[in-house]
Amino acid sequence: GCRPRDPDPDKRQKTRNFSNGETKHYIMGIPQSCQREVISLNVGGTHFTTRLSTLRRFEETMLAAMFSGRHYIPRDADGRYFIDRDGTYFGDILNFLREGVLPHWERVRAVHREAQYYSIGPLLESLEDTQPLTGEKVRQAFLDLLPYYRENLERIVEIAKLRAMQKKARFAKLKICVYKEEMPITPYERPLFNSLRFERSDTEAKLFEHHCEVDVSFGPWEAVADVYDLLHCIVSDLAERGISAEQQCIGVCDKHLINHYYCKRPIYEFKITWW
Ligand SMILES: [Zn+2]
Repeated sequence: GCRPRDPDPDKRQKTRNFSNGETKHYIMGIPQSCQREVISLNVGGTHFTTRLSTLRRFEETMLAAMFSGRHYIPRDADGRYFIDRDGTYFGDILNFLREGVLPHWERVRAVHREAQYYSIGPLLESLEDTQPLTGEKVRQAFLDLLPYYRENLERIVEIAKLRAMQKKARFAKLKICVYKEEMPITPYERPLFNSLRFERSDTEAKLFEHHCEVDVSFGPWEAVADVYDLLHCIVSDLAERGISAEQQCIGVCDKHLINHYYCKRPIYEFKITWW
């Protein structure tokens, strides 16, 4: 379906004379007769209208490549170019291409995913500088200090699921130990000044080796962020997956270790509500 349209000369129109005597008119390298300046799109069933120049605003994006004239793009029954992708956030993509407008912060994560799909570098960069993604980066830098954070989160979900299924219950309760510093710290033994982590020699550490009787254990870590910050991460990451969790401190581990030392790591009860 490549019929001559819009004979109006465009500012970017170029005329090329070929050695065989043929003359062709091009807009940005594409035979003019094949490309219209106003483009109708169907993105997963949602319709958009924009300029060709908008779609080609930035080189090296998927849209620029698609509409470079070098590729076949399927069309729907009404002749709109069809992109098989959820169109929910395509308007945000277009608004950025049109005038550099960024989406509302609540849409930033979702638009970031779309910008990755369409590989729009300038939009990705701009989005990564906005609060939701910068905040996430800062948070992730902290969570990277906890090597088993992701695995522990999976364990919480798995245990809570099994427990609720077995008991045919609406809730499941888990005991989770969250401790920032090596325990125990008695009045006679304090973390070294300027060190957030309690230092102890390997042989000494062996004497204190101990696993609390809990379902999952987080810690220790060396950062300013504390136990409440980690609890916040756990609860909000579960919420992100649609799992509602409440937590409360139910005391400390009272396991006797050696001499006058007891474990004393704080234990939290997590209540996971399934339905
Ligand atoms: Zn313990």
